[in-house]
Amino acid sequence: MQTLLLSAREPGTPALAAELIKRGELVAIPTETVYGLGANGLDEAAVAKIFEAKGRPQDNPLILHICGPEQIELFCHHIPQKAYDLARTYWPGPLTMVLPARDSVPRRTTAGLDTVAVRCPDNAVTREIIRLSGVPIAAPSANLSGKPSTTTAEHVLHDHDGRIAAVVDGGPCRVGVESTIVDLTEDRPRLLRPGGITPEQLIAVLGDLVVDKAVTAQIDKDAVVKAPGMKYRHYAPAEPVVIVSGSREKAAAYIHRHFVPGDRVLCFQEELPLYEGCAPLAYGREADVNTLSAGLFAALRELDDPSIHQVYARCPVGGGVAYAVQNRLKKAAAFHIVDAEAEV
Ligand code: AMP
Ligand code: MG
Repeated sequence: MQTLLLSAREPGTPALAAELIKRGELVAIPTETVYGLGANGLDEAAVAKIFEAKGRPQDNPLILHICGPEQIELFCHHIPQKAYDLARTYWPGPLTMVLPARDSVPRRTTAGLDTVAVRCPDNAVTREIIRLSGVPIAAPSANLSGKPSTTTAEHVLHDHDGRIAAVVDGGPCRVGVESTIVDLTEDRPRLLRPGGITPEQLIAVLGDLVVDKAVTAQIDKDAVVKAPGMKYRHYAPAEPVVIVSGSREKAAAYIHRHFVPGDRVLCFQEELPLYEGCAPLAYGREADVNTLSAGLFAALRELDDPSIHQVYARCPVGGGVAYAVQNRLKKAAAFHIVDAEAEV
């Protein structure tokens, strides 16, 4: 199959992409978070192709991308008022809500769960594709399963060229990490994945938030979780990653002590001069966390190389969007963190 590369700027692109979606094909779509691998979310056969193309475990559910709050009730029931409050405040935007699923949503899309995740992306072309296709578009991140997510059309082609119908090129993703996921099916709202909408922003609307264990720690294979996908290895380059925490100076001293040829350093731009001779790669500026979220996955993909021995990574501290960057980097590192302050 030849994969079409469609520019989001071409006026004919939304209609063509929507036509492919209606025909049950896979189309990679740009969003403000990452590129999604999209298919008709109501068509079991089309959804099955997503799992096949990604090599995604069947028990890892997908997110339904919709045009706006008015579509929530088409696919969800028992919708609490706070879901509408969140949608009105943060949609279109990087926020996904988990709600009870209507029977119209195939259980292949929800990976057998009775709940479904819905989101309205902040990308006008992608919303137009959804509108013209007349169906919700189910889409996980467009990377191969387990690998760092795709934040450019080139990343998508690298993973899927010749195996999907089309990629809509909307340029690099602004946020760069996947959406925040909040589960609204229990008594208390629960954060399942941090993202561009911060815990602080959620609490401002909800007044309350529980952070799921999967956000902060490695989940045991046999543990019971909200969505089985939370247990899988994520975002990881080929080689091991270790996060080195602590001050700039202590971390640099630690890394220089342990660095061997074949290692790489993933750091902040401000730190590049500290790592001469250590093959450093900067993923953004520590002083502007949005550059770190926007650059993280492209950097992890660049480091996805079996000839690299080990990566020492620097991680931002604090809340807000830094919380999402910490989560992705910790998962890429399989929660392997050393504290340079504690080393003598
Ligand atoms: P991806 O954006 O590629 O990470 O895939 C979508 C993610 O959304 C999954 O890995 C799940 O963590 C989450 N998700 C989707 N549907 C549900 C659901 N019904 N309940 C909980 N989490 C979900
Ligand atoms: Mg993903």
